[in-house]
Amino acid sequence: DGNAITADMIDDLAKRHFPLCMRNLHSVLREKKHLRHHARQQYNLFLKGVGLSVDEAIVFWRRSFTSMSADKFDKEHKYNIRHNYGLEGKRMNYPPKDCQRIISSDQPGPQDSHGCPFRHFAEPSLSSALGSTYRITNAVDLREILELAKTGHPHVACTRVFEITHGIKKGEGIGQSASVSHPNKYFDRSMELEK
Ligand code: SF4
Repeated sequence: DGNAITADMIDDLAKRHFPLCMRNLHSVLREKKHLRHHARQQYNLFLKGVGLSVDEAIVFWRRSFTSMSADKFDKEHKYNIRHNYGLEGKRMNYPPKDCQRIISSDQPGPQDSHGCPFRHFAEPSLSSALGSTYRITNAVDLREILELAKTGHPHVACTRVFEITHGIKKGEGIGQSASVSHPNKYFDRSMELEK
């Protein structure tokens, strides 16, 4: 299949199409060469939704954990990756988490990087993440997004980011005025708009 998503495509796809929660996980992974349990699970399930096969997911994670021996990787991580794909244990085919779950379950602690930045980041971190990730530095846009996050509307804040970064009119959202409710829907719509 010529359209198959492979491990080496992820860096580029992340830059062009991933929502902030996944951009954040990706950059922490690149920086620390590691992600903690909930973060790995959130990201791995998202990547499954993006279309990464289980074999490519294993390649992706093995290459990302550069300081880990192959042996340790196989023992500690291969099983969990395969488990997320429904190939181990109870063989449940776990769906990628939607925004509601990411926002409200498994609250991240200070050492964690999972969750939703619009819900879990302190304002200065969110502001700087918007600048460094999406180059959103316009004061009016920034203020609007930060205000939406602060007043408890993470989906709407994320939707504004989608509109601004895709040159879409305010209110159109990810299509038919829908706001972001799932990171994989953000991704799919972003891919669609590129065609
Ligand atoms: Fe991710 Fe959803 Fe939060 Fe956007 S609103 S950053 S897609 S969890």
